Amino acid sequence: MSAQALQGAAIPGPVREVVEALRRAGFQAFLVGGCVRDLLLGKVPKDWDVATSAVPTEVQQAFRRVIPTGIEHGTVTVVHRGAHVEVTTFRSEAEYVDGRRPSSVRFHTDIEADLSRRDFTMNAMAFDPSSGELVDPFRGQEDLRAGLVRCVRSADERFAEDGLRALRAVRFATVLGFEIEVGTLAAIPKTIDVFRKVAMERVKEEFQKLLLSPRATQGLTLLERSALLGAFFEEAVGTDFAACGRAPADLSVRLAVLASRCAAPKDVVLRLKFPTAVATLVAQLRTAPAMPPPGSSDVEVRRWLATVTIPVSEPALALGLAEARLSEELALRIRAIAAQQPPLTAKDLALKGQDVMRLLGVGPSPVVGEATRFLLALVIDDPTLNTQDVLAERLRAKFSTGSPHAAG
Ligand code: ATP
Ligand code: MG
Repeated sequence: MSAQALQGAAIPGPVREVVEALRRAGFQAFLVGGCVRDLLLGKVPKDWDVATSAVPTEVQQAFRRVIPTGIEHGTVTVVHRGAHVEVTTFRSEAEYVDGRRPSSVRFHTDIEADLSRRDFTMNAMAFDPSSGELVDPFRGQEDLRAGLVRCVRSADERFAEDGLRALRAVRFATVLGFEIEVGTLAAIPKTIDVFRKVAMERVKEEFQKLLLSPRATQGLTLLERSALLGAFFEEAVGTDFAACGRAPADLSVRLAVLASRCAAPKDVVLRLKFPTAVATLVAQLRTAPAMPPPGSSDVEVRRWLATVTIPVSEPALALGLAEARLSEELALRIRAIAAQQPPLTAKDLALKGQDVMRLLGVGPSPVVGEATRFLLALVIDDPTLNTQDVLAERLRAKFSTGSPHAAG
């Protein structure tokens, strides 16, 4: 991993061309932030960010397709030969008025000023793919090599400016398997009141990346120790982080582990700004009936499946396994029984509501529901009974003993 390695790095042609086109038009332009970090780590960047001296209107003039994604922050998305490249104007103006820098700003100072407002040293590097130059004023390469998350300049100041950065530090440490540099870590509890003011939508984005990481257990532990977890998800403090790590990388299942002590899990998950579908599933998982006991019969397993419903059964099994409320063996058996697709709901019955009404000689009435529940219980106990003839016969035996329920 070195600056030289970057030159041979797999930067997509269209991304290079965007940088080159801006330079030909007389502007400064660099790849910057996460993509430079990921290239140095030998990872494939998820997205490509370009920093430039061109203002958004100039960028719009330089390319045919430009989406004004965040024009008030100086960001536009250039669509070039199928690639989407985020191009952001150097955002450095505010940081110049410190009396220590020359008033007329030169090339390097510009990009350096842009880099100096970024959060961590590893995220504060810029790369020029045409010359191979790596701008690294805060020794990001060194910290990457050492596996350290370190704030650019003063951590206390960085976190006081934007409280989300504290959570980002823990998120990057978790996802990359890095340590947080001592001063950076110490700044987190000191600035916790700033973190408390951050919009939950932003917190959620970072928390989700941490939670779905293979190192979620370590990440949650660090989050708790640094006082961050208690500041936005107090209900999760002291819960079983190891179980969370054992669960598959599924948002609902992992959140359900952390919501194990919540009286109203749905409200908590909604407060954290996760989608309603996630909140609903977490609540279903937390209120699902107890797992079938070890040695359960097939009938007991089918009754359990019918109560939790098939779509909820798989996450419920994953949660039960992670929380050690279920053996691997029984989970396999339950999955095998579910895979046979036994009749478990009224829709699966060989006799539909219409058939039941005709056979009983009634219109829509409570007795239809009663009859359906009766038939369902029969076929859950013995799926082989689920044929029209058998169910019709059972229905007659149970409900129409010479005096049928009055027809409509
Ligand atoms: P990921 O790979 O997870 O997307 P990333 O580093 O690309 O990580 P983004 O949130 O996409 O993270 O941000 C892109 C870049 O913008 C960062 O690398 C960093 O330089 C800068 N940045 C993002 N958020 C902040 C912030 N809150 N404060 C300062 N700089 C930030
Ligand atoms: Mg990114």
